[in-house]
Amino acid sequence: MVTAPFADRFARTRAAMVEGAVDTLLLSVGPDLPYLTGYEAMPLERLTMLVLPAEGQATLVVPRLEAPRVLERPEFTLRPWGETEDPIAIVQGLMGPGGRLAIGDRTWARFVLDLQGRGPGTTWRKASEVLGPLRARKDAAEVEALRAAGAAADRVAFALQSGEIELAGRTEAQVSAELGRRLRAEGHHRVNFAIVAAGANAASPHHEPGEVVIKPGEVVLCDFGGSMFDDHGVGYCSDITRCVHLGEPSEEMAEAYAVLIEAQQAAVAAAVVGTSCAEVDATARRIITAAGWGEEFMHRTGHGIGIEEHEDPYIVSGNETPLEPGHAFSIEPGIYVEGRFGFRLEDIVVAAVSGPDVLNHADHDLALV
Ligand code: ZN
Ligand code: ZN
Ligand code: ZN
Repeated sequence: MVTAPFADRFARTRAAMVEGAVDTLLLSVGPDLPYLTGYEAMPLERLTMLVLPAEGQATLVVPRLEAPRVLERPEFTLRPWGETEDPIAIVQGLMGPGGRLAIGDRTWARFVLDLQGRGPGTTWRKASEVLGPLRARKDAAEVEALRAAGAAADRVAFALQSGEIELAGRTEAQVSAELGRRLRAEGHHRVNFAIVAAGANAASPHHEPGEVVIKPGEVVLCDFGGSMFDDHGVGYCSDITRCVHLGEPSEEMAEAYAVLIEAQQAAVAAAVVGTSCAEVDATARRIITAAGWGEEFMHRTGHGIGIEEHEDPYIVSGNETPLEPGHAFSIEPGIYVEGRFGFRLEDIVVAAVSGPDVLNHADHDLALV
């Protein structure tokens, strides 16, 4: 039996509400609700909303027909509402005293406007101001969920690198579909993306896999990830990039890849608690720039990852946020030479007191298949 992490998350959220002067937190669709309750709201015209007063019992207001999907937990009371009831009035009635409200950033505007219309004298803030820093620092259960997702993605990467996944003669789209099938077979419940970019297409970082047939002598950049349920039914994301080359790469390509791997490994090593996100980005960028490829590394070094594929903290120039224990993020520098080739190398890393905890272990070299 695994101890559910939700009681602890509620306690930390309430502490952050007190500190941030928030009387009631309101959460609807989006990742904040499953983080706290294990339940992901359906994006429906019928309102689902967790009403969490700083003091007192939290209530999950949910359409009656969705209620059977909610796994009830001691941290909240379930309040199913019927078709003729007014969920806005129900939510209003459940708010704690005090009008300082924080509402989930992704709540549909129609519900926000209805709630605002009925509550004069209140102040509204984004829930991310309360929950953002909490969700960025992964707890032990979350790190293990990310580790499991990373290991599953590694197994797909290994199939790619070992030549088990046929490349030559197939289209990018076919290989993308196979990567997706394999992510599911390895335990992901959802495929979020599977970029396959062959030859010159690899120079476009977010290339859409198409009907291009992969040919011998080309590089194939594969960047794929999905969501995998943890023990409580909350999805955590994987995200990995590996490149393979069909046959021997040119000398120039081999040189570029050698620079990339050096930059990526240096940035991983730099991702220690206390170092700023900007400095981690700069570590990769300095090496690539010194080798003459600075212009060809045109995106940030990485992004936070958790319930969402992209979340705080962002590993980007200008983000002076120091890494804290539990921060989870990608390290994914790239070198993109327009019209010719591109490389990216990506691992997920957790900043830990003991040093960078790398969640991907698939071979980092340019695999020759
Ligand atoms: Zn990307
Ligand atoms: Zn990726
Ligand atoms: Zn990524």
